[in-house]
Amino acid sequence: MHTKAEHTPCDHILHITLGEGAVRGLLITGAETVREASSIHLTTPVATAALGRLLMGTAMLSTMLKEDDASVTVTIDGGGPIGKMICVGDKESVRGAVDVPTVAIPARADGKLAVGAAVGRNGRMSVVKDLRLKTPYVGQVELQSGEIAEDFAHYFVTSEQSPSLVSLGVLVAGDTVLTAGGVLLQPLPGCPDELIDQLELRSPLFGELSRELAHEPMEGLMEAWFRGLNPVILESTPLSYRCGCSRDRMEKALIALGKEELTRMTLDEMDGATLHCHFCKASHHFSTHDLIRLLNRAMR
Ligand code: ZN
Repeated sequence: MHTKAEHTPCDHILHITLGEGAVRGLLITGAETVREASSIHLTTPVATAALGRLLMGTAMLSTMLKEDDASVTVTIDGGGPIGKMICVGDKESVRGAVDVPTVAIPARADGKLAVGAAVGRNGRMSVVKDLRLKTPYVGQVELQSGEIAEDFAHYFVTSEQSPSLVSLGVLVAGDTVLTAGGVLLQPLPGCPDELIDQLELRSPLFGELSRELAHEPMEGLMEAWFRGLNPVILESTPLSYRCGCSRDRMEKALIALGKEELTRMTLDEMDGATLHCHFCKASHHFSTHDLIRLLNRAMR
């Protein structure tokens, strides 16, 4: 019998290897991150699960970025009732939003939240990595199921040529996020076939990730899942829901609109303009006086 953990440890990502480095992996614990997303966007359970899975998947991509100020943006537009989904990640944080956080869909026959039906599968997932080079890296794949883990696995194999096992899970009870997490396993070139067979054999265990996390922290699950495969933790990095927006960035965005649009705003809006951040709902007010000052900067 497992006992429920006394307290939820802070969100973090374990960077691991298996089989003396033949497989690299990421094990993500992310309930706090998904809770924050859910409380900002007031999501229904199925929207919480969909956004939460995308946040965990985005964290996999962003934690692998080497440059400190690099970022990755993942968008999914599957034609389902949740609309477009977007998540942005940098080294130790993620943020995200969906078009329709109020989407409600009956659960699947097996009792699980109908994430695939909410997201849809007629569309694409795109990954844009801003590595601070001249042009960003862009990868795009057709959606497989809209269940998101499968879509990430498809992305890794077709766009990054890295065959991958991906599991993403969010456990929601009522409006409460109980657990959230992700598993990514990537056999490296030369990985023995027996090890790959073992991982495939054990993959149904990772599929129940969100339920398992309710009883046991990730470190314990790792020991159980990978018994005999020599799991080694290389490092543990923190993860949180954090938005980097600021008044300064909003000013830059306004200036980027150009002088015509700024002039129109200055004339139209008697009380200036209020901008709302997509990701954290922070609002920044710019008075007419502020707008004129920005207009002057735009004309320079
Ligand atoms: Zn923000």
